[in-house]
Amino acid sequence: MADQEDIVLEAKDVTRTFMISAGFMKGKRPLHAVNGINLQIPRGEVLGLVGESGCGKSTLAKMLLGLLAPSSGELYVGGTPTSQMERLEMARKVQPVFQDPYSSLNPRKTIGDVISLPVRVQGGPDAAGGKDLRMRVEEIMELVGLPRRLYGNFPSQLSGGQRQRVAVARALINRPEVVICDEPTSALDVSVQSQILNLLQDLRAELNLTYIVISHNLAVVEHMATRVAVMYLGRLVEVADTDQLFDNPQHPYTKALLDSVLTPDPNQGVPDAGLGIAYPNPVDPPSGCTFHPRCVECMDHCSVAAPRTIPTKTGLVECHLYDEDQGRGRQAS
Ligand code: SF4
Repeated sequence: MADQEDIVLEAKDVTRTFMISAGFMKGKRPLHAVNGINLQIPRGEVLGLVGESGCGKSTLAKMLLGLLAPSSGELYVGGTPTSQMERLEMARKVQPVFQDPYSSLNPRKTIGDVISLPVRVQGGPDAAGGKDLRMRVEEIMELVGLPRRLYGNFPSQLSGGQRQRVAVARALINRPEVVICDEPTSALDVSVQSQILNLLQDLRAELNLTYIVISHNLAVVEHMATRVAVMYLGRLVEVADTDQLFDNPQHPYTKALLDSVLTPDPNQGVPDAGLGIAYPNPVDPPSGCTFHPRCVECMDHCSVAAPRTIPTKTGLVECHLYDEDQGRGRQAS
């Protein structure tokens, strides 16, 4: 377990609820997009966050970026509650690299303008522009493998891989503590995906960065992450070191996710986790263990009682199978 001062990001019982229309004349119902998340992320870690569309990954990422506030619970960045942080301070400490470098870069701005924007927004000595800001931008361009001569070019003049390097440079120019990489390579040609992943790995080591990597592509997560968190209907159902999770998954959902990778087209994602039963409606989640309608190991009481969090060798699992009182007393490892 990392020392408390090494914890760069922490979630304590974080929940985000949206009120969603339940239909004509039916009023609104709560949708718990993120539901009671507890997580500590030490400095230098690469945490992979996986799960199907609608599981709450994006909502959690938005909260970590300060774009959404938790409905309850608290998030901490560097030990400071995010509820007490200004939006600009959050933006300096936590930066995103989004999926699509085509839509995330302003086509009317030069590469120099795009990369320097976070500095200008934050203010400070370099914000007015001039020689020092240009030098800072060119240094970061070099760091991410972009030739300095592209400074005055527009995004449309760059390849997809170069644009993603611009997005990485923009994320890093203020030296954030955490970078949220949301599907960082899924919009790129296969031929450049590994270049961007290797770049992110090198930068992490060089700058002692902490990453959260959100991806449908489990191969990307296995390649990048030191630890993996599996989300299902707003809950973390399993957290484990990457080797442990891929070699010896504990939760039936994690096993189904890994099995679903054995499809001919990895870009298909995991539409139904290979179980043939569609993902439940988050507005009307199943009772008890919310995974029970799709679980091949479901027991009688799984539809009645929600599972507790059971500690494992390197993390946690939420499943009755490993609960001495509720399940089969299977030993969590
Ligand atoms: Fe399956 Fe029951 Fe475990 Fe849920 S608690 S994952 S239904 S065995």
